[in-house]
Amino acid sequence: MAVYITEECINCDACAQECPVAAILSDESEKNPYETMRFYVKPESCVECVSHADEPRCAEACPTEGSIVWDMPFIVDFEDYYAAGHEKGTYQIREHKKKGMMLPSVKAQPYIEDIAMSLRESKANVKA
Ligand code: SF4
Ligand code: SF4
Repeated sequence: MAVYITEECINCDACAQECPVAAILSDESEKNPYETMRFYVKPESCVECVSHADEPRCAEACPTEGSIVWDMPFIVDFEDYYAAGHEKGTYQIREHKKKGMMLPSVKAQPYIEDIAMSLRESKANVKA
């Protein structure tokens, strides 16, 4: 991870079609943990478009301001952050039959190292 979709989302589907790794679920997906109508980024799948594009493609495609914001990298340093988010319902981390919950210690994901942690912590807009 990752990027994160906020309540500003208008469910237009533009982002999901652009994601190179199918990390974005619609509001109708059973695996989307949100009760409000908005799309959801699976943090265990998002690669921040590293090796696919210079910028996150979802944010480029999004027609709104503030629907797609930075989240923490999906790496072991943030294992507790994602585990706690899963408990709270902010995330729904995939459960693998043999490996268990696909937290960063099981499989970390690439992230854009140039993005300041302060932008991630404050969930700043991806599209500057
Ligand atoms: S940043 Fe890239 S990989 Fe992550 S959800 Fe957006 S389009 Fe998909
Ligand atoms: S492109 Fe933006 S507004 Fe449209 S579904 Fe994705 S996050 Fe929501």
